[in-house]
Amino acid sequence: MKEGGIAIVQGDITRMKVDAIVNAANTSLLGGGGVDGAIHRAAGPQLLAECRTVGPCPTGESRITGGYRLPAPYVIHTVGPVWQGGAHGEDQLLASCYRSALRLATEHGLSTLAFPSISTGAYRFPLDRACRIALGETLRFLREEDSLAEVTFVCFTAADREVYRRILAEMSVS
Ligand code: ADP
Repeated sequence: MKEGGIAIVQGDITRMKVDAIVNAANTSLLGGGGVDGAIHRAAGPQLLAECRTVGPCPTGESRITGGYRLPAPYVIHTVGPVWQGGAHGEDQLLASCYRSALRLATEHGLSTLAFPSISTGAYRFPLDRACRIALGETLRFLREEDSLAEVTFVCFTAADREVYRRILAEMSVS
């Protein structure tokens, strides 16, 4: 599904042939479980070596490294908030993850970017709410900046992909 520079697919983000994939990292940037572990396994040990030189990274911010053995030449590591009920700035911090990652991509002259569903795994951010933030921030960014050609949301499950598609359709008509 493609709409206004946004594509929504189901799959493994480590296989994406885009200019940069985004990693849902933790503040240490030294790897972890979930998508972070998958990206480090696929990229190989040089990614961890570079991450040691660029971390730590505060929640809501992003850092860029090479992609090493990945098909994508760059990885943008962003640190999503841990869900704590919603009254601890989680929405703003998640929005800041998307904005800072998008900004880093344009600053590096990149034109295609792929995001996982940041914070909605181990960090337990409710999917619907996170998805509205992800798509809202990306649509706004694409309206204001024309340097990015396409942003792909890579959902790990078909159920997640349907949520992203439904919410994008809702946002596009309103
Ligand atoms: P967080 O700690 O930010 O919640 P997780 O890695 O636990 O990060 O989960 C974020 C999302 O990434 C979840 O939807 C999870 O299913 C998904 N995910 C896990 N592995 C992959 C992968 N290889 N490609 C794309 N998405 C993945």
